[in-house]
Amino acid sequence: MEVVWWSGIDVWFWTVYVSMGMRLSYLSPRCKASTSRIHGTGLFAVSGIREGEVVAVKGGYILGGEEWAGLEKELGPAEIQIADDLYIAPTRMEERDGAMLYSNHSCDPNIGIQGQIVFVAMRDIAAGEELTHDWATTDNEDYSMSCNCGSPHCRGTVTGQDWRMPELQVRYAGWFAWHIQRAIEGMRDEVAG
Ligand SMILES: [Zn+2]
Repeated sequence: MEVVWWSGIDVWFWTVYVSMGMRLSYLSPRCKASTSRIHGTGLFAVSGIREGEVVAVKGGYILGGEEWAGLEKELGPAEIQIADDLYIAPTRMEERDGAMLYSNHSCDPNIGIQGQIVFVAMRDIAAGEELTHDWATTDNEDYSMSCNCGSPHCRGTVTGQDWRMPELQVRYAGWFAWHIQRAIEGMRDEVAG
């Protein structure tokens, strides 16, 4: 059997191809990232999206909290939490754009998470609408930010502990990430216990 060694130039082309062509996350062809009124870059519907349609799936490497904390200094927020002390995220700057979903927070969202990485339309969405999810349904972290979502439901200040709010637990029943749902059940057991 003939052994073919890759030349340096082949390896260089392969590296360029992989870093340019590969997206770690999936975005439906019905949406694309663009400048947002809410914050920085957001995700927008480019055509009508029906309730229940998958709009995005977060991809990346599975990293422990300490490992991600080291990378976050360089890469900024690009992860989502999938379990206690486990995150899914890119590991290199070249991968960051292809790993981002660019879904901004809104207190009146139109997409929501199912499981840990799949984002689904919560209602019919018209072309041009920004796709947002309520970070209370995905985040269990220490942060606080003022919210600029403009919805009548706006909480004004959004924190990484908003999943604890009883009214949100009711409003988003069935729309919490698995690890948040488990935390909510743990909280209820403590109260009942
Ligand atoms: Zn808001």
